Amino acid sequence: MDLLSKFLAENSHIRFADSDSPDFADLRSAFVINATKKPSLIIRPRSAEDISSLVSILTANDIPFTIRGGGHDMFGRSQVDDAVTIDMREICHVHVDQALQTARVGGGIISMNLLKELEKYQMVTPHPVTSTVGYVGWAIHGGYTLLSTKYGLGVDQIVGATVVDANGNICEADEKMLTVIRGGGGAVGVIVEAKIKIYPLDQVLAGAIIFQPSGLVTAFRDFNTNFQQAKQDGFPPELGIYRFIMNGPMGKTLTVLFLWASSDIEEGQKWLSTVSSWGPVGMSTVTPTTVAVFNEMTNSLVPSKVYGTIHALPFRTLTPELVDVICKHAPLQPNHPEVLFGIHELRADAPMSSKGSVFNARQAHVVIQIMPMTGSLETLDETIAWGQSFNDALLETDAANRLPCSYIPLTPTKDLDFKGVYGGKYETLREIKAKLDPDNKFEYALVQI
Ligand SMILES: Cc1cc2nc3c(=O)[nH]c(=O)nc-3n(C[C@H](O)[C@H](O)[C@H](O)COP(=O)(O)OP(=O)(O)OC[C@H]3O[C@@H](n4cnc5c(N)ncnc54)[C@H](O)[C@@H]3O)c2cc1C
Repeated sequence: MDLLSKFLAENSHIRFADSDSPDFADLRSAFVINATKKPSLIIRPRSAEDISSLVSILTANDIPFTIRGGGHDMFGRSQVDDAVTIDMREICHVHVDQALQTARVGGGIISMNLLKELEKYQMVTPHPVTSTVGYVGWAIHGGYTLLSTKYGLGVDQIVGATVVDANGNICEADEKMLTVIRGGGGAVGVIVEAKIKIYPLDQVLAGAIIFQPSGLVTAFRDFNTNFQQAKQDGFPPELGIYRFIMNGPMGKTLTVLFLWASSDIEEGQKWLSTVSSWGPVGMSTVTPTTVAVFNEMTNSLVPSKVYGTIHALPFRTLTPELVDVICKHAPLQPNHPEVLFGIHELRADAPMSSKGSVFNARQAHVVIQIMPMTGSLETLDETIAWGQSFNDALLETDAANRLPCSYIPLTPTKDLDFKGVYGGKYETLREIKAKLDPDNKFEYALVQI
């Protein structure tokens, strides 16, 4: 019996599945169906000790392995054909320290489950726009969020981590290791537990403003003009806005996720009136609520599994030239409910310091996301073709407005230029990686130096 089989036989508390197991298909399934790989074995550790033993056995025997959290990598990179998947989803605890405003969260916690647990303490933390995403996988690579102007990005929340390193040792990350984890992801270890900042917030004003489908182009242009003007005049940090175009029950609509992150609901209502005046509103679900309930609503707007891919391009600002391209291509998006177009924005009023982190895109910018996704293989080609021509048109716009980086989780590995992504932080990352994982044991982490 090989060492891995012996270890699994002796540790019956660790569940695992191979291709003959009844739950294999379910366990390996991920958000993007056509990128889902077929690992040799899916192993579900339950503790740091389990992972430590696993990493030691796998590396000593040259068995390739990947780390999987929420399975939302758009290119399916958390699993590799014929490699072992270390599936973190059973390490999903949340321990809250209300007094210190921190929480210790398991490396496999799903963002929505974290938000629900924090709600019991009337606390919140920044989270992805769709909270079916794995929390750690989101936070360690950057972490765009509707709460960035108030609290910072996902990477900025990480204040500690328990890690299994390249030697299989369990360690508390020191400042050097934390610097790499904050933006370099799993490049130097498996994050068993992250210690993160949390914030008291019992109520928010939040929901979706769905503009009327007729005149989509005019609605997008008008909204954007007003948005840019209001931004120049000064937005409060409590206001988070995510613009996207979806195929909803009313047709193809500009939909705006509105999150007023303060219990001063009266002030929030003023901003809601302002934002709602930027176009003809067809329907609004914005109401006093909690962050967890708001996220349940936003998750219902996004499918749980899709065929497709993503194009994500960071620009300094949404110029009239970009708006023209969007207004030409977005209305042509195929009519499936899964296809989406959206804009993440890091505003100039967000906390921008990258001290103690290698995440380098700290100037104000937008990430334009084209999501050619569909529920059926039959419509995949046409959907992909739409996304490609939209992306090509964006690439032809003024190069000086492009940021010299890409957002790693939303960019295929072949297009990643890590020197461009990390800029002045590249050498720091390279040096720490060379010290902590000289033999590149974590060869399937998203960040490869
Ligand atoms: C529907 C959807 C919505 C999204 N929304 C946002 C958003 O609002 N903001 C944003 O910034 N991004 C967003 N993303 C991108 C998402 O944050 C990243 O793809 C993220 O890496 C997914 O994490 P995961 O754990 O779900 O995925 P997985 O595929 O399980 O993991 C991705 C990678 O993360 C690493 N990883 C995960 N957990 C660990 C761990 N415990 N230790 C070490 N490495 C680990 C591994 O290298 C793995 O390959 C979204 C993606 C989707 C599909």
